[in-house]
Amino acid sequence: MTDETNPEEIDDVEIKPTDIVFDCPNCGHNLCVDYRAAGLQVPCSDCGAIIQVPIPDGMQLDDLDSDPGEMLQQLLQTRRMLVKAEAAAQKAGEKVVELTMQLADCRKTLLAVRARIETLQEAADIANATRQEVIDMIASTTAK
Ligand SMILES: [Zn+2]
Repeated sequence: MTDETNPEEIDDVEIKPTDIVFDCPNCGHNLCVDYRAAGLQVPCSDCGAIIQVPIPDGMQLDDLDSDPGEMLQQLLQTRRMLVKAEAAAQKAGEKVVELTMQLADCRKTLLAVRARIETLQEAADIANATRQEVIDMIASTTAK
């Protein structure tokens, strides 16, 4: 059983979400170590040189003082939220596709209605012109 704050060769272990992955500045070996080792001086598992574990971006050294279980909880919760957000984004994307298709259908219907209105307008124009002709004819007949 290895100490959790001792870095291990990356090929030998499964990297956990809480692990810090970094290269040994001495031998360049790819190492991973539990996040609790951040900022600590530790021996490289390969060359044995004493190296400092880097502190991951966004991680404060103060975080190390808080309860590791609580931190892990927060990390897992953040990951769950990320998964949820990804699912929501996926759903929203599908909805956009659906709405776009509906919009295309609406456009087609609108164009068909417009064409129908134009036809009706033309028919009404012809009817009006014919009515005027009839009125004129009656007028000229009565005038005689
Ligand atoms: Zn090394």
